[in-house]
Amino acid sequence: MPSIKQMFENNRNWSERVRKETPGYLESISYDQRPEILWIGCSDSRVGPDQLIGLPMGSVFVHRNVANIFATNDLNCLAVLEYAVDELKVPNIVVCGHYGCGGVKAALEHSGVQPVDLWLDQVRFVYNRYTKELNMLSPVERANRLAELNVESQVHNICRNTIVREAWKRGQKVNVIGVIYDIHDGLLRQLGTEYSSQEVWETSYGEAFSG
Ligand SMILES: [Zn+2]
Repeated sequence: MPSIKQMFENNRNWSERVRKETPGYLESISYDQRPEILWIGCSDSRVGPDQLIGLPMGSVFVHRNVANIFATNDLNCLAVLEYAVDELKVPNIVVCGHYGCGGVKAALEHSGVQPVDLWLDQVRFVYNRYTKELNMLSPVERANRLAELNVESQVHNICRNTIVREAWKRGQKVNVIGVIYDIHDGLLRQLGTEYSSQEVWETSYGEAFSG
């Protein structure tokens, strides 16, 4: 397992390699950032976006927490969204959940301790909305399906937020999508629609919650 000593050693090797293989690269990205994606993902150590999507440094603005939640009353989430949309003008927002999520499992089992258990209430809200569908599944399937529904719910939390709505209103390009990652094969799958405007979101949200 990597140690702190190893961390510094790896960093020195990496820095040396990058400066040797692509001279001027680190200098070139040191002035500014123009990320293409705001990534909202789980803190799980196996689902870091840098490896999963293989984009160069400066491409992805990242926010991660337990169970990839966008809580509308959480200052951290709101500050990240505001900075990404209003300041950096990031055109794509991706909420990424994953199968086998310990946070989702803990939400179902009430196995966490404070404050994580309190944080996971956000996932239980989603469970409560889909109890009938979820309770027909085996425990593993239930947790995986809840991971998908949780992603879609967080996508809606972002779309209904005034930061995104105001951006859409002024004609700023903001696409919001949900994806789920499978640790077993390393692949991402899109969940639901890509929301690119207030109209697209309202239509889809209305359909999803009308029946
Ligand atoms: Zn997770």
